[in-house]
Amino acid sequence: MKEQTLALHYGYDKDEYKTMAVPIYQTTAYDFETAERAANLFALKELGPIYTRLNNPTTEVLENRIAALEKGAAAIATSSGQAAIFYSVANLAEAGDNIIVAKKIYGGATTLLTHTVKRFGIEARVFDSDTASDLEDLIDEKTKAIFFESLSNPHISVADVDRIVEIASKHNVVTICDNTVATPVIFNPLEHGVDVVVHSASKYINGQGTAIGGLIVESKDLNSKLIGNAKYPHFNEPDESYHGLVYADLPFPIFTLRIRLSLIRDIGAAPAPFNSWLHIQGLETLAVRVREHSKNALKVAEFLQSHPKVLKVNYPALADDANREKVDRYFRDGMASGLVSFDVGDLEYAKKILDNTKLFSVVVNIGDSKSIITHPASTTHQQLSEEELKKTGVTPGLVRLSVGLEAYEDLIEDLKQAMES
Ligand SMILES: *Cc1c(COP(=O)(O)O)cnc(C)c1O
Repeated sequence: MKEQTLALHYGYDKDEYKTMAVPIYQTTAYDFETAERAANLFALKELGPIYTRLNNPTTEVLENRIAALEKGAAAIATSSGQAAIFYSVANLAEAGDNIIVAKKIYGGATTLLTHTVKRFGIEARVFDSDTASDLEDLIDEKTKAIFFESLSNPHISVADVDRIVEIASKHNVVTICDNTVATPVIFNPLEHGVDVVVHSASKYINGQGTAIGGLIVESKDLNSKLIGNAKYPHFNEPDESYHGLVYADLPFPIFTLRIRLSLIRDIGAAPAPFNSWLHIQGLETLAVRVREHSKNALKVAEFLQSHPKVLKVNYPALADDANREKVDRYFRDGMASGLVSFDVGDLEYAKKILDNTKLFSVVVNIGDSKSIITHPASTTHQQLSEEELKKTGVTPGLVRLSVGLEAYEDLIEDLKQAMES
């Protein structure tokens, strides 16, 4: 079946009342009925809901749908995109290891991976995901993960996914791709040999800006990369925290299973069933929305390019954009999602544009149906040092738009008056 159909129907076999909408199972726990069934569930002899921190029937529909849309083997939902990134990395690396992280990524992912995770003894090395030309030199025997964004937020560039995967495969290192901005509508990282996809469901998947959430999807080939790989002993040796369970011996996709049984069990950033339900509503219309976001963003980017006060516009689908060749190579139908950024040269003018827009709201979010404008240097990337800002490409005059689903003529009109008043 095609993606649009899967997004509407997959993973929900109507309940006894034949409800069209997936029910919200707003419950903490589940009646096992017998002691034996309880024991079987804990021993993984039978799979089923145990406790909502570990699994929930509403959340499971969301997990199965995103796994289908990303063409993965299995998925797990988390309370936020940040939690999804943290679990993915913590599932691979431990104190003494290193991870290799793209320099152009979400500000929160940069602080998480280069500062917070460092205090757990995991060192982050930074690479250029546009070309991956510096990647191989950074890998050593302690490298456990390579993290990058397919379409980066906020400096909207496209990763050279095939090159990254080629180098990672050579060194048997797991790749994690944040596909939040591209979405599975435009790009499927797993089809290009990536091992793990993460999402902030809070953005395009939700689509209405109504709930925070994260998703992790593992590829159908990841078991074979983990099993017997000396880099990842915790999948191959008995887990003392789970009465000696050896993940490699289980007949399931083990990457997300270990996150569920070990990391979510212990750390607990699990989604609320109601939030999972909101993300399910969003997934139903993802394909039509992303198509329209992409169309509107291109119109807005072309307008900005023609404006005399704009020094540079970043939108990968623009004919002369440095990323255009990669859009043609990797993305469906030339789509490039809803993020556009542009540089107006100085901080004061950038801020004035934010203050003057009426349709664009000054909000640090993306992927909402309503258009959003932000100034990354003073908000999302404010915690970064000047050196780090330079590395991520966030200049003082950079303005980022998340182009929504309003009529593009109205959006262009709004920007025009904000820039000229
Ligand atoms: C927002 C975002 C995140 C973090 O997700 P939350 O749901 O806000 O925790 C991670 N990656 C990207 C690309 C994002 O845009």
